[in-house]
Amino acid sequence: MENEIIISAENLIKKYGKGEEEVTALNDVSLKIRKGEFVSVTGESGSGKSTLLNVLGSLDKPDSGRIMVGDTDLLTMKDNDLAAYRRKRTGFIFQTYNLIPVLNVVENIVLPLNLDNAKVDNDFLEELLELSGLKYKRNSFPHELSGGQQQRVAFVRALIHKPDIIFADEPTGNLDNKTSRDVIAILKNSVKKYNQALVLITHDLSVASQADSVYVMNDGILSQGGGLS
Ligand code: ADP
Ligand code: MG
Repeated sequence: MENEIIISAENLIKKYGKGEEEVTALNDVSLKIRKGEFVSVTGESGSGKSTLLNVLGSLDKPDSGRIMVGDTDLLTMKDNDLAAYRRKRTGFIFQTYNLIPVLNVVENIVLPLNLDNAKVDNDFLEELLELSGLKYKRNSFPHELSGGQQQRVAFVRALIHKPDIIFADEPTGNLDNKTSRDVIAILKNSVKKYNQALVLITHDLSVASQADSVYVMNDGILSQGGGLS
């Protein structure tokens, strides 16, 4: 039996610029994502991948279309509700780690929960620190960590509140192969264990091909398959 649909995007259009400079970053994109589904998106630079991720993740709005999460269209939600939805139900990982320099590893990880007055599941925190090899780095500050370790912190921060959907935009873009494999394994483990949806943008075809559904963006047009098997 197929899992329930968690997010359904319909006919998304997003243009930037005017006249000769106009770019159609999303050209009638429709996509359904199910619980527990790992979706990968590849495509050339400038093809609209980040725009798609930001729009699906409610960081940006399309010019037209609908994004249904359950019975609610994200595009009709009030800003406060949208911010709460984003904090509680989604997790984001970007190519840059965006850690707070004056906070240590654990403080960086629990910051979003603290800002939300939400309880930290300490057992889960320990499990993630162990899984990500950060157990003995828990009191370190970002500048004391390698790039790979900093990205592991960002991964744990995106997972600690057990989001329904994880959005990752080239999260392994700055990492070596071994670290990439490790962090993708942590993500996949979380997705399976907690039945989460994962939308992952990547240039790495060996990562993309591990997905349940593989999409390719081409000049704002999303298509499935993309010649990967
Ligand atoms: P990708 O992530 O696949 O590299 P993007 O989604 O970042 O592609 O960009 C898609 C297109 O939209 C590109 O032509 C880019 O220049 C343009 N674009 C993206 N963001 C903006 C913006 N804020 N203002 C103007 N143009 C933008
Ligand atoms: Mg991008």
